[in-house]
Amino acid sequence: MAEVGRVLYGREDVRRRVAELGRTITGEYVGREPVLVTVLKGGAVFLADLMRAVDLPVEVSFMAISRYGDAEESLGRVQILLDVELDLAGRDVLLVEDIVDTGLTSRYLLSVLRSRGAASVELCTLLDKTVRRIVPIHPRYAGFDCPDSFVVGYGLDFRERYRNLPDILQVDDLAALRADPDALTSYAPPAA
Ligand code: 5GP
Repeated sequence: MAEVGRVLYGREDVRRRVAELGRTITGEYVGREPVLVTVLKGGAVFLADLMRAVDLPVEVSFMAISRYGDAEESLGRVQILLDVELDLAGRDVLLVEDIVDTGLTSRYLLSVLRSRGAASVELCTLLDKTVRRIVPIHPRYAGFDCPDSFVVGYGLDFRERYRNLPDILQVDDLAALRADPDALTSYAPPAA
């Protein structure tokens, strides 16, 4: 078990960082009513915590997408399965992502949101995997710089598992997890 993965960011680190991001966003959007848009399913956990850390009137909306193959094969082309229902014209939109990896998905989603006539469109990601970036996407707000490893927990899944973990785990042995997708179900969480 221990060799398959380990805690990268514990729940307390995440709580602190999300609170800081919320304060920063509150300061920068003061006097405005941003629309926080997230992508299901991974972004839902982060959005739920982040929106409560922003002390402004906010609206939230959700998108759901499916990728054609993996991001690199698809060059970020995604099919929109669920779209924002709000009129974004003139609004300040903040795209809230769980993780930015190659940047292809975010680039595509930012261009979709910009095409809706928003006054501003910015990107906030909990995890920024800068080492794997293949397009120049620079999130305005990023929680943590993420190492070049597969991570799960706090919304992020492996084959739909682990989204409900309160901690973010780094997978050290992806082959072992592929062989046994439940291998991380009893990881040792840090002391609360
Ligand atoms: P990008 O287009 O930036 O390469 O891909 C972003 C998407 O890939 C994320 O929204 C997420 O669904 C998935 N992804 C990238 N890295 C990871 C990771 O380490 N763990 C998990 N669970 N998903 C990831």
